[in-house]
Amino acid sequence: MTDIIVAILIISGWIYIAMRRGGAAAGCHGDSSYGSGPEHGEEESKENVPKLGKEVREMAKDPVCGMNVDEKKAAATYEYKGITYYFCSVGCRDKFVKAPEKFIKQETK
Ligand SMILES: [Zn+2]
Repeated sequence: MTDIIVAILIISGWIYIAMRRGGAAAGCHGDSSYGSGPEHGEEESKENVPKLGKEVREMAKDPVCGMNVDEKKAAATYEYKGITYYFCSVGCRDKFVKAPEKFIKQETK
């Protein structure tokens, strides 16, 4: 009889890992066709999954190192030909200021 308990533990472990990895795993949304397994109220792990979609949109790209930089938290900015560029650090901006064309060309392939 302990086999069943072990099986349930393994399955719930699998579901937990799958949720943490994939976020929206196919099949475990909405309908409860699953049936097997106890129903706890463990929705917490779902809630904690961050929705990256919105955040990424507001990110600017550091033309020097290629890093994504939050426009609001950028360490340095520089305006060149009417376009504001955002940098992860003052060092990156200094490199850009010395040779902006070099980095802009890399951006627009
Ligand atoms: Zn940088």
